[in-house]
Amino acid sequence: MEDLQVVRDIIDNAEPQSVVFFGGAGVSTESGIPDFRSAKGVFNQRYPYPPEVIVSHSFFEEHPDVFYDFYKEKMVHEDAQPNQAHKKLAELEERGILRSIITQNVDGLHQAAGSKRVHELHGSIHRNYCKQCGMRYGLDAVMAADGVPYCECGGIIRPDVVLYEEPLDQRVMQAAIEDIAKAKTLIIAGTSRVVYPAAGLTDFFTGDNLIVINRDPSPLDRTADHCLAMNVGEVFNW
Ligand SMILES: [Zn+2]
Repeated sequence: MEDLQVVRDIIDNAEPQSVVFFGGAGVSTESGIPDFRSAKGVFNQRYPYPPEVIVSHSFFEEHPDVFYDFYKEKMVHEDAQPNQAHKKLAELEERGILRSIITQNVDGLHQAAGSKRVHELHGSIHRNYCKQCGMRYGLDAVMAADGVPYCECGGIIRPDVVLYEEPLDQRVMQAAIEDIAKAKTLIIAGTSRVVYPAAGLTDFFTGDNLIVINRDPSPLDRTADHCLAMNVGEVFNW
């Protein structure tokens, strides 16, 4: 594929700090983490609610037990390892080319691969806190609990993950916007949902190369300078 080599050359030869990567669920699927939203239908027997309902603020408040059943089974994948995309991006940051990663994923795999500057729009499963006293907990405390994890103080521990109905962290958003505004190359990968915030964020891009990597076609393709219908890990395998 002609465009593939072009894209790799653009990234490899980019000026220092000029590339920003925006990634969605497709970045993690090659690490064996399916998009939890795809759990629709198939799991209806076990979970009599759609994923978007279970992973919402009001549902968590009302049914933390069902939430954690779903969360631990469908959203936390403790054995998942960084794939080729995570590794290459960490290398590009190390080389000074990549300014930052903006991710919609909550799995922490970019940090596991060694990336330092990661804007986690939807938070992280690795950070958890007590709703009552604010005490911080790691993922292990959540997973070790039988069902709903409780703090020493008796409060419920919740993940520092943005649930449906909850606003995004404005500091994270602002940092992501600033990086996109400074980028000369923006890579949008593994997301076909051109909804808020992805759509809004990309409005701040004024650089030269908009690269879209996604297995399925998306409306983003039309605005892209380079469009690769491939798995993200394949593109970053050089
Ligand atoms: Zn507490």
